[in-house]
Amino acid sequence: MDRNVMLQKLSACQKCDVLIIGGGATGLGIALDAAARGNKTILVEKSDFAKATSSRSTKLIHGGVRYLEQGNISLVMEALHERWHMLRNAPSCTSLVHFVLPVYNLWSGIYYYTGLKLYEWLSGWYRIGRTRWMDKQEVLAQIPDLKAEHLLGGVLYHDGQFNDSLLCIRLAQAAAERGAVVINYMECTDLIKSGDNVMGIKAVDSCQNKEYSIHARCIINATGVFGDEIMTKENPGHVDIMSPSIGVHVVVNKDERFKDYGLLVPRTTDGRVLFAMPWMGKVVIGTTDSPSKNHTQEPKAPEEDVWFILQNINRYLSRKLQPSDIQSVFAGIRPLVKGGKQDKTSSLSRSHTIIQGPGGIWTITGGKWTTYRKMAEDLLNRASAFSGLSMKPCSTKHISLERSYPPVEASEFPEIHEKIHPSFDYRYLDVYNAVMYEMAQYPEDVLARRTRILFLDAKAAQEAAPGVTRFMQKLLHKDENWAADQIQRFNTLASQYIFHPSTQ
Ligand SMILES: Cc1cc2nc3c(=O)[nH]c(=O)nc-3n(C[C@H](O)[C@H](O)[C@H](O)COP(=O)(O)OP(=O)(O)OC[C@H]3O[C@@H](n4cnc5c(N)ncnc54)[C@H](O)[C@@H]3O)c2cc1C
Repeated sequence: MDRNVMLQKLSACQKCDVLIIGGGATGLGIALDAAARGNKTILVEKSDFAKATSSRSTKLIHGGVRYLEQGNISLVMEALHERWHMLRNAPSCTSLVHFVLPVYNLWSGIYYYTGLKLYEWLSGWYRIGRTRWMDKQEVLAQIPDLKAEHLLGGVLYHDGQFNDSLLCIRLAQAAAERGAVVINYMECTDLIKSGDNVMGIKAVDSCQNKEYSIHARCIINATGVFGDEIMTKENPGHVDIMSPSIGVHVVVNKDERFKDYGLLVPRTTDGRVLFAMPWMGKVVIGTTDSPSKNHTQEPKAPEEDVWFILQNINRYLSRKLQPSDIQSVFAGIRPLVKGGKQDKTSSLSRSHTIIQGPGGIWTITGGKWTTYRKMAEDLLNRASAFSGLSMKPCSTKHISLERSYPPVEASEFPEIHEKIHPSFDYRYLDVYNAVMYEMAQYPEDVLARRTRILFLDAKAAQEAAPGVTRFMQKLLHKDENWAADQIQRFNTLASQYIFHPSTQ
């Protein structure tokens, strides 16, 4: 995937079949499906791929035990089937994760065991493990710091986990291999209309400050929480449909508190669930769910949400987590769709919504990362009937998302096999591949989304930034000012991922 090649292809294209605005999981899933069905496909992303919500999930490939409790059986079943396809198609970005739900009361034990057994049964042929009872000793062997007093045992169940932003890159690559043009740092700034009908978009490449006009048979708005902005350009009378909600995670070291199993807190003080899950050598704990007025691509975690997570996880731990244990804090905004009179965002539907606007643009929003593939299939099945697109059947269930890269001539880059930070196994080779094959343009793209150091340990990411920037400067033929500016920008960004409590 080479950005300059993408720009050349874009310039040469008079009109495409499918034009997608937004390069998160939803947009990239559609780009892959559309290209695989034989459509001439273009996707524009205003920042980096997965910059917004799609890099900030809890990293679970799941049916959602909470949605089961809410009685949303069809959503759970659909997602459990999708979980299986994701695990099979992208084994190097995904893995299994095993959770223990601790039980302190007989009746709640029976309730949770039955529910989680049902969760296993709903996956049918796509089952990935057996839900079973664990006795107290087994539970404490896995989570030694769990409060032992009154502990009766626990329920063990299984889900999938993944590297969300990397899977977005794999989707972009798979789409590009099938002829799609996928471009990051290209913002849709306006629509091209004929009367009320939208014929195309104006897009600006922020790397080269150049505007493009792109015409398309079918235009798809997959901008997540920013969906209302495109809908308002399409129809100035549009009434906002999004009800964004912020979710926060904290990341701590995987010390002796946690072994290989995750911990599921079944009921937080606001009646939700909370996961503490081993991920990429650390433990991710989250998430929260509070209405969010502003939606930005880089939301800042509210301090009270971080305290909420610490308080709720500490209710279950004998040795409490302290603010100083936090290595990174990240927040994401859920693209939820308004649901009539409900006022709590945690009760809004997690199913996806597809709307065709008066100018012909298809907006798709909501849903879950886990269901991105099915969302794309649904949207294209509907849109193809209206827009004269290729009606070839969807094939994404069987498309591998695995990648490997050719070896690099080490003499050209003597540092290529060195680590970019002593605490992580990422090498300059990973930076090289990110720039050459994954369209990374800035140090943030490498440190936040190609590697995940920013999400795992924000201070380590700051320490790695100068080396990564200098190496990228060489690869991208940039000058000193660029490097100095990028290091400063990255430090400012990373300081937002470091928890600075105002109270102790
Ligand atoms: C806290 C939290 C935890 C979650 N955990 C899970 C989980 O564990 N498992 C799961 O399955 N799901 C989870 N989800 C849900 C999942 O992350 C989202 O459903 C999914 O990432 C949404 O993807 P998207 O592509 O629709 O939106 P986004 O990822 O936000 O992508 C939209 C893109 O559009 C771009 N864009 C906006 N405007 C323009 C424009 N004018 N021109 C060009 N591009 C534009 C943005 O830059 C952005 O990259 C979680 C969500 C949150 C918030």
